[in-house]
Amino acid sequence: MKAPRYTIDTLHQQFPDDDACLEYMFQRQYGDLKACPKCAIVNPRYYRARGRKCYACNDCGYQLSPLANTIFHKSDTPLTKWFYAIYLFAVGKNGVSAKELERHLGVTYKTAWRMAKQIRLMMQQNGNMLSGIVEADETYIGGKAKLDRKFDNKTAIVEKKKGMGQVKAFATKQADATVTLPFLRANIEAGSTLHTDDSRIYSRVKRDFTHAFVNHSKLEYVKSGHH
Ligand SMILES: [Zn+2]
Repeated sequence: MKAPRYTIDTLHQQFPDDDACLEYMFQRQYGDLKACPKCAIVNPRYYRARGRKCYACNDCGYQLSPLANTIFHKSDTPLTKWFYAIYLFAVGKNGVSAKELERHLGVTYKTAWRMAKQIRLMMQQNGNMLSGIVEADETYIGGKAKLDRKFDNKTAIVEKKKGMGQVKAFATKQADATVTLPFLRANIEAGSTLHTDDSRIYSRVKRDFTHAFVNHSKLEYVKSGHH
C-alpha cells in the first residue's frame, strides 16, 4: 500500500500555528529527556514559558529552547512560514528560488533570500550526515577565568572510516545534554554506532544510535589535548 501523500493540507493540519511548530520542535529536540539537566528530577514536565519561544521545567524553572542550534533561531519570521518554505523545498523537484518564496510566503525578497539560503544549507548538511561508527567527545576550551566568554566547550564528532572520515565540531557555552543531543541528532544518521565515554550526556541516545562506551584509559589518543 502506498503511504498517504504529505500534501499542503497535511502540513496545515499538523502545523496550524507557531505554537504547534514550536511544540513539534520541542518534542523533536527534547522529547526523550529522562531527567531535567538542571535539577535532575526524573521524567521532568515542562510548561511553555509565557511570551517566550521556550519551555521551562515544572520543578526548577530551567529553560530549554527548542530552536537553539536550528535555522529558526533568532528569526522573526513565523515558524509556520519557515515550515511552509521547507515543505516547498521538499516537494520542489528543481529547487525553489528566493523569488518564489517571496511570492508564496508574502515576505520581503531579502527575507526570502536569506531563508532560501539557510534551507539549502540545512538540506545540504542533512545529506552530509556522519554515519557508521562515529565517535563523540567533549573538549573543554579555555580555563575557568574565561567562563564568561561564549563558546567555552566544544563537542566534536568524528566519523571513523578507513581513509578519510569527516570531522564536525560545535562550540557552546555549556556542554550538557540540552545542547549536545540536538547536535548529535542533527549530524549523525540514526542507526549509527556512537562511541563515547561514559558521560551521562550520552546515556540518552540509545533510541537513536547503537551506543558503545569507550574506555578512555585504552583510548588515550582521543584524549590528547585534554588537561
Ligand atoms: Zn528542573
